[in-house]
Amino acid sequence: MNAPMPIPGLVDPVPVPRPAVARADGRVDLMGLPRENLRALLIDAGLDPKQAKLRAKQLWHWIYNRGATDFTVMTDIAKAMHPWLIERFVIGRPEVVEAQLSSDGTRKWLLRSDDGQDYEMVFIPDADRGTLCVSSQVGCTLNCSFCHTGTMRLVRNLTAGEIVGQVMLARDTLGEWPSQPEGRLLTNIVLMGMGEPLYNFDNVRDALKLVMDGDGLALSKRRITLSTSGVIPMMARAGEEIGVNLAVSLHAVTKDVRDELVPLNKKYGLDDLLAACAAYPGANNARRITFEYVMLKDKNDSDADAHELVRLLRKHKLPAKVNLIPFNPWPGSNYECSTAERIRRFSDIVFEAGISAPVRSPRGRDIMAACGQLKSASEKKSRAQRDREMAVV
Ligand code: SAH
Ligand code: SF4
Repeated sequence: MNAPMPIPGLVDPVPVPRPAVARADGRVDLMGLPRENLRALLIDAGLDPKQAKLRAKQLWHWIYNRGATDFTVMTDIAKAMHPWLIERFVIGRPEVVEAQLSSDGTRKWLLRSDDGQDYEMVFIPDADRGTLCVSSQVGCTLNCSFCHTGTMRLVRNLTAGEIVGQVMLARDTLGEWPSQPEGRLLTNIVLMGMGEPLYNFDNVRDALKLVMDGDGLALSKRRITLSTSGVIPMMARAGEEIGVNLAVSLHAVTKDVRDELVPLNKKYGLDDLLAACAAYPGANNARRITFEYVMLKDKNDSDADAHELVRLLRKHKLPAKVNLIPFNPWPGSNYECSTAERIRRFSDIVFEAGISAPVRSPRGRDIMAACGQLKSASEKKSRAQRDREMAVV
């Protein structure tokens, strides 16, 4: 079992080995800047406030509605101004190191930041929707014992630009510019990639605001889900300041088992967590909280566990749905997935109590893109091998 990380203070700090750095060429990447900051940046660069306001509005439209990465296509901005912009700014995208396609249509991208940090995003197409699974950190400090991401050594928060950049890149790949209200392939976003989003609150909030902005990517908050392992002190703020759907990685119903699986439980216990869920702003019967529950053989999958889960959800009067996730193995993991019959039985018990408990079908297992399998193993492959694989995607 992993030793729990030491967690000082009210909200745990995240080790940030390097701050997000300025680009080597000195230009500023506009990606991810809140509206006000974009305007302030133009004023700092020498525009008068009135001009800055207009230009910021135009830039915003080109960046987030049209997907532009090149200032010269911005036809409503005077040609004479293009070199001025090019000299000072860029509209960046994460670098794609590797792109993989699963036999079930799931796509996984290994991305690299300007300062050489690797992270991943996954796109999961379904008949009626397309879900982009976005990372919030490089790695994760929380060391959940069944999660591959938790074993990564290097951890840093992704910037708002790197987070929204994943959505921009997915739109590029899917050819979904300009932003359209109808007929999109990318319809939903889940913050369920690498990292604990509530340990990177400000950047996640700023990125999601851009995603939800009606003049920009224009995705409804109802189509966005943030998953947390239970960072209680940040949950109310997430509801108030972001307002997206909440998913909570519960995974166990007793202190002992949850302490082992999700070491953060030692700091923020089960009862307090469920009370915080009950108080989550915006949760109601029409917008339920999702409880994720990984199915681990002989660990958390008994009938008694299922009954206890129902009892806890009822006790806290939670508008809840339960998402049962078959455990996805990874090299070196110490757990086994519950049998299909066990998962079915567990689901039935919860369902018979009037709580929906679907089993999530694993997607992208063959390319290690399924829940909890993400870990940047890019260095193990040669450049040539990656290029060969990229060519077929
Ligand atoms: N850090 C956040 C969000 C990312 S993980 C969180 O923990 O909620 C997305 C979901 O996948 C979480 O519920 C996580 O517990 C689960 N998960 C992690 N490893 C897994 C594995 N090996 N098999 C199945 N689910 C896993
Ligand atoms: Fe981090 Fe979530 Fe993995 Fe736990 S399950 S180690 S919180 S990414």
